Amino acid sequence: MTERVALYPGSFDPLTNGHLDILSRARRLADKVVVAILENDVKTPLFSIAERLEMIREIVGDDPATPVLSFQGLLVDFARATGATLLVRGLRAVSDYEYELQMALMNRRLAPGVETVFLMAKEEYSYVSSRLVKEVARLGADVHGLVPDPVLRRLIGKF
Ligand code: ADP
Repeated sequence: MTERVALYPGSFDPLTNGHLDILSRARRLADKVVVAILENDVKTPLFSIAERLEMIREIVGDDPATPVLSFQGLLVDFARATGATLLVRGLRAVSDYEYELQMALMNRRLAPGVETVFLMAKEEYSYVSSRLVKEVARLGADVHGLVPDPVLRRLIGKF
């Protein structure tokens, strides 16, 4: 049987426990889940692509079932290049839905053979976003429990 490959794309600036929870759920749906860090020229990130690759690899380990890569350009092109037939996205509140629906429908139009699946993280992570984590960490709050330790260490180093 052919291997089922999923892509979990995002900015992951930085990766949170919400992302990690979605990743572990996605692993039940596919043989391989590629964590795909989008190199986005529009957003000004806190962590460089190199830093994000390094810390996410440190977190997921050297597991061939969860490679960590970065990409530029269209997600569907990267899906084709990696042989992925599933796109994984996480849904939190209703506020995520509108944007995610647009993206999923556009990606379906661009690549009809690739299916987007939405997963919900544990409810305790339903309010956790990279943006909020950065904001409160910058102001000196403790984000222990919201992000994995390698991220926590680097956040403390930045602020
Ligand atoms: P993007 O910039 O593409 O939104 P993010 O890194 O912010 O990338 O998020 C990647 C994906 O993970 C998105 O589908 C987002 O909705 C989802 N996600 C982020 N945080 C959580 C969370 N706490 N619970 C569930 N899904 C999440």
